[in-house]
Amino acid sequence: MSGPTQALDERTLLDRVQPPAGEGREILDAATREVIGRAPEHTVADLDAALAAAGAAQPAWAALGHERRSALLLEAADAIDAHAEPLARLLSREQGKPLNGPNARFEVGACSAWLRAAATTPLEPEVLVDDESAHAELVYRPVGVVGAIGPWNWPMMIGVWQIAPSLRMGNTVVAKPSEHTPLSVLAMVAVLNDVLPDGVLTAVSGDREVGARLAAHPGVDKVMFTGSTATGRRIVEASAGNLARLTLELGGNDAGIVLPGTDPKAVAQDLFWGAFINTGQTCAALKRLYVHDSLYEDVVAELAALAAATPMGVGLDEDNVLGPLQNAQQLEIVSRLVDDARGRGARVVVGGEPAPELGPLFYRATIVADVADGVPLVDEEQFGPALPVIRYTDVDDAVASANRLDVGLGASVWSADRDEARAVAARLQAGTVWINGHGGLHPMVPFGGVKSSGYGLEFGVEGLKSVAVPQVISG
Ligand code: NAD
Repeated sequence: MSGPTQALDERTLLDRVQPPAGEGREILDAATREVIGRAPEHTVADLDAALAAAGAAQPAWAALGHERRSALLLEAADAIDAHAEPLARLLSREQGKPLNGPNARFEVGACSAWLRAAATTPLEPEVLVDDESAHAELVYRPVGVVGAIGPWNWPMMIGVWQIAPSLRMGNTVVAKPSEHTPLSVLAMVAVLNDVLPDGVLTAVSGDREVGARLAAHPGVDKVMFTGSTATGRRIVEASAGNLARLTLELGGNDAGIVLPGTDPKAVAQDLFWGAFINTGQTCAALKRLYVHDSLYEDVVAELAALAAATPMGVGLDEDNVLGPLQNAQQLEIVSRLVDDARGRGARVVVGGEPAPELGPLFYRATIVADVADGVPLVDEEQFGPALPVIRYTDVDDAVASANRLDVGLGASVWSADRDEARAVAARLQAGTVWINGHGGLHPMVPFGGVKSSGYGLEFGVEGLKSVAVPQVISG
């Protein structure tokens, strides 16, 4: 803790987290490929030290009690707000998402909003039995040390989703940001640590090996993981060793179903942003859209018009609301899936190619029509700006299509008739089903996946319980 928060500019924030000159790994601007700065390359030994410090700090942090911890988290939220613009600029450059639109400023705003929600959500003891036979209550105690392992798409926000409830419940945290986006998370943690006591929150900037060690470490009591299903499986395996409790937010391939009678113009904007938020690099984005035959061409045309008209480019330019892919591997996945669909006879209505004039990692917003289940663009997670639109005639078939994959993070139903939409929603296998929207999250509404999209819930009271251990007080 280094005293009250003084707003720092982007350069000063960066200097706080960079290693000494000549050390570390260069991090590039996702849009321009210019060097932004250097990230420390923490080792397994650094991780061991961070975990030892977290373990040592935990009893005193827990002993502060809910009221004091919440007060500090509210101060931490104010500190984020005070640094919102430099944090958003750094995030925009490192991740690629524009400042404007539902992107970098939006993400930083969500960080303080989720910190405040974690600080203020009440969690009362639950009276289980209270009669002449017995008195028993359920209370929630800290788990201990939480390892928070994050992805590169919403690095700061997902970091806060893991960190804020964990701290509120009296745990200490060691966070391991993605190797693709370490600087924004390190900078955010530095801002939080102006408020928090020493050892309570440490960020370790390392590669997959450091992530694997964190998941398997005997000093970790709970792992909060957001990332791919493949890595999630490895973390489950690692937990056989340390018996760490797990919350796994894994990949998705969210389906949307547009029912007959829907007005294409009325839903087009929300459909578009449901799919293209963060340039498609969002876990719970709309990734395959099933549209009834009666409005298929109209929906495709509306989406294509929006894709063509929505400004894409360098994030610091206020005009842009779509950005590049964050990394070359992801660009390769999106290109390959779209090319493959085209090769199988799908109709690329708009986009369908990289946009090298904008920068090496840009790919045009793409709508692919006349495509079917079984095509990899439909069946695999594209995680980028390319939406396949599939025609259906029978709503039972659309429901079967939506449910046929082994993932189930989110889904959506679009209709002018809310009752009809709710009836279809009840048949979908997903952690959240939105009606006439896709991907909207609220800090008080639990979020989590089913099937291979993971297990455990984040946000709200359920989120607090998931970073605690239940204890029965009986008698
Ligand atoms: P990833 O699984 O490659 O990496 C995520 C993190 O895990 C990184 O920090 C990485 O260093 C670390 N890691 C790698 N190997 C590890 C191991 N063996 N043990 C422990 N940690 C390890 O995922 P990504 O490419 O960064 O993220 C994209 C994926 O995340 C997509 O599938 C997306 O759908 C998913 N995602 C899910 C949610 C959600 O809430 N469900 C949110 C965002 C992203």
